[in-house]
Amino acid sequence: MMPLSQIAPLLARGWQTHCPNPGEVAVTFDDGPDPATTPKLLKVLDQLEIKATMFVIGQKCRGNKELLKEVAAAGHTLACHGYSHERHWFRDASFVQGSIRQTMYMLQDCGLRMEPMFRPPFGAIDWKLHKRVTSLGVVPVLWSTHVADWKLQEPDALRQRMVSVVHDRMILLLHDGHETSGNVVQQLPYLNYEIQKRNLKLITLKAKSESATTVW
Ligand SMILES: [Zn+2]
Repeated sequence: MMPLSQIAPLLARGWQTHCPNPGEVAVTFDDGPDPATTPKLLKVLDQLEIKATMFVIGQKCRGNKELLKEVAAAGHTLACHGYSHERHWFRDASFVQGSIRQTMYMLQDCGLRMEPMFRPPFGAIDWKLHKRVTSLGVVPVLWSTHVADWKLQEPDALRQRMVSVVHDRMILLLHDGHETSGNVVQQLPYLNYEIQKRNLKLITLKAKSESATTVW
């Protein structure tokens, strides 16, 4: 019997968990957009000159056209975190693909392009999800590290975590649209300082060119 700790890496095979090239790091935000938190996040990202990758929830795009346009105009990448924030594991292909398509349509309605990348809510994956995502020409993405920023934490503790996880080819998972998001935004300058200190290059995630021929 295979121990659980070995099954998770097997399941994640084929999912992007790291930046493609040495020397690169990416900062990603799930669960937006949110009119209460996203503008503050955008402001700090702009001050720090960080271009991030936003895995947005399709449903939450409704009514947030101007906000999403601001996100895109600032140079951040918009990708899919599901149309609704529910687990996409053990769901059939039409559910998964409908979820990704609907999110793309929501962004198209705003005149925006969705980068063909999908990160499942809660990181919940099963054996079939990878194929259901890639058969659409969409890149399945997870992360290399997180700091449990959705939990309430002392600012000092969160800062310490965010600084200590930085590593080469990191894809850092953070969240927007949570009550803890203000704390995350406050600590971003320290994260950025650590990244700069290590001479790492911040990139936004992009689907590889060979995946660009999407089957919508
Ligand atoms: Zn999420």
